[in-house]
Amino acid sequence: MSTDPTCLFCKIVRGEIPASEVFRDADVVAFHDLNPQAPQHVLVIPTEHAANLSAFARTASAHAAQRLLQVCGEIGSSLGPAGYRVVTNEGGHAGQTVHHLHFHVLAGREMSWPPG
Ligand code: 5GP
Ligand code: ZN
Repeated sequence: MSTDPTCLFCKIVRGEIPASEVFRDADVVAFHDLNPQAPQHVLVIPTEHAANLSAFARTASAHAAQRLLQVCGEIGSSLGPAGYRVVTNEGGHAGQTVHHLHFHVLAGREMSWPPG
């Protein structure tokens, strides 16, 4: 399995730092964001390290990509029956701060569009 010893979210995958997990299997881990931006704010990540969506798109198996999207949809619809949002930030302009692909699943309040 591809992991980065210095990556924060790889450490969560390996269980080296704690997280409030809501889902885990061989391909995907989901856990509550430490600094939630909505009443429900879960991060959904692949267990294999990829720095961002572009890298994941180049390297991931079809199975890993499918599972990541499936878990986002399952968690989103369960946390946000009235609606939810899935976001990934890539690069400085988008405000990415952790360089392991993660989808933010946000729910529990009305959200504006366009995003800031
Ligand atoms: P980004 O800005 O890269 O799109 O999102 C990174 C997210 O990771 C932020 O929402 C931030 O609150 C969250 N985060 C950063 N460090 C930790 C951590 O150690 N544990 C958890 N659960 N979330 C974290
Ligand atoms: Zn990583």
